[in-house]
Amino acid sequence: MFRISTHIVVGWLSALVLTGSLGSTRSAAQAPPDGAVTALTGVRIIDGTGRPAIERGTIVMSGGRITAAGASVQVPAGATRVDFAGKTVMPGMINAHAHVQNQTKSMPMRDDLVRRLRLYASYGITTAVSLGQVSTGEQAEVIRLRDEQDRGALDRARVYTSGPSIRGLKTVEEVRQAVDRYVDQKVDRIKTHVTPQMTPDQYAALIDQAHRRGLRVAAHIFTLDEAKMVLERGVDLIAHSVRDRDVDQAFINQLKDRNVGYIPTLTRDLSLVVYQSTPAFFKEPFFQRGMAVYREQVEMISQAAFQQKMRENPQTKVIEKALEQGTRNLKLLSDAGVTIAMGTDSGTDEGRWQGYFEQVEVEMMVKAGLTPMQAIVAATGAAAQVSRLDHLGTIAIGKAADLLVLDANPLQDIRNLRQINSVWIAGRRMGTTGTN
Ligand SMILES: [Zn+2]
Repeated sequence: MFRISTHIVVGWLSALVLTGSLGSTRSAAQAPPDGAVTALTGVRIIDGTGRPAIERGTIVMSGGRITAAGASVQVPAGATRVDFAGKTVMPGMINAHAHVQNQTKSMPMRDDLVRRLRLYASYGITTAVSLGQVSTGEQAEVIRLRDEQDRGALDRARVYTSGPSIRGLKTVEEVRQAVDRYVDQKVDRIKTHVTPQMTPDQYAALIDQAHRRGLRVAAHIFTLDEAKMVLERGVDLIAHSVRDRDVDQAFINQLKDRNVGYIPTLTRDLSLVVYQSTPAFFKEPFFQRGMAVYREQVEMISQAAFQQKMRENPQTKVIEKALEQGTRNLKLLSDAGVTIAMGTDSGTDEGRWQGYFEQVEVEMMVKAGLTPMQAIVAATGAAAQVSRLDHLGTIAIGKAADLLVLDANPLQDIRNLRQINSVWIAGRRMGTTGTN
């Protein structure tokens, strides 16, 4: 029987040491002029669909899009060639359950949100789907950033948003009005929390209203019964692991029949158990490259009082078990052919590190029993698919040229995802630190 204890997870995390050869050099992001053509040559291509990697391939980009990719692609005359012999290129990762929130109140909101999107990008996460905002002002700012990203050069990860989670409302009418309000404000999807405060009829109305208005619904759940309740009412995305017991065949069938995606967010639960003492990863250079943003929370979490509170909180033991159960269910669902998408819940609450935790999440998916290829697909093509971001997530003609270039092959060792050579968004090479 597959089983992973929290101690193993924590011990394994502590054992994570610097594996990357991340340079600290900052190369100015360069926007190619319109019409310019760039070709990456000699690369191993992992295209994000799960198809076997292509060796010694070429990727051609123009106008922010991929115009050709494969083993026998001719480099167009006049193209700028970038010789990446021996490197691996995969789609930039997509966090299907992120939070792009203004956590640093001492900074202007926009500056804080932008530096967080740059932080994601610096770790190879080129899109963050923010499933929850904390205020209408924050929502409006995120929507402004989203609308800018299709105009001109992009120097940060893309963002999409659900607006605030719809929860705790009293009547079906209120629920429908809340959905209408968010749709009118141009959110990309609807997020809800399944709690006893709302009735199944209200969830049915919420999902129905969202679908009438053309948006999909992602649900925060904890138990199998909660997940089944919203699935039966038409939900489109399960935004966390089922953490109370093993998933069953009926649940698997429900997910597969409607091709509903499932986002484990293992690092969310990790963040609720791992700070009983100071985690070893705080010392990793790969973690510390995010310190310009992380520092505030690192200092808080490093305090003895914070850690003692976590040790004494009865909820910590509950979540340790929940993490084991969620890890086990991920393997069961993946084996059953359910579409798994990478998501972390990073950017909300303490110790959910934007950028670093997406890397850890993918590693934990492999620890749970997925192959590196399955975990990479979850973080690329599948994350785009469940998020209905059809222009992202795979390396194919017409897709956005959002790419992660690695110095080592992640199919051999998933931690090679940390060996970031460069990150490209809309065909433009980002700086390698990019967090301030
Ligand atoms: Zn969340």
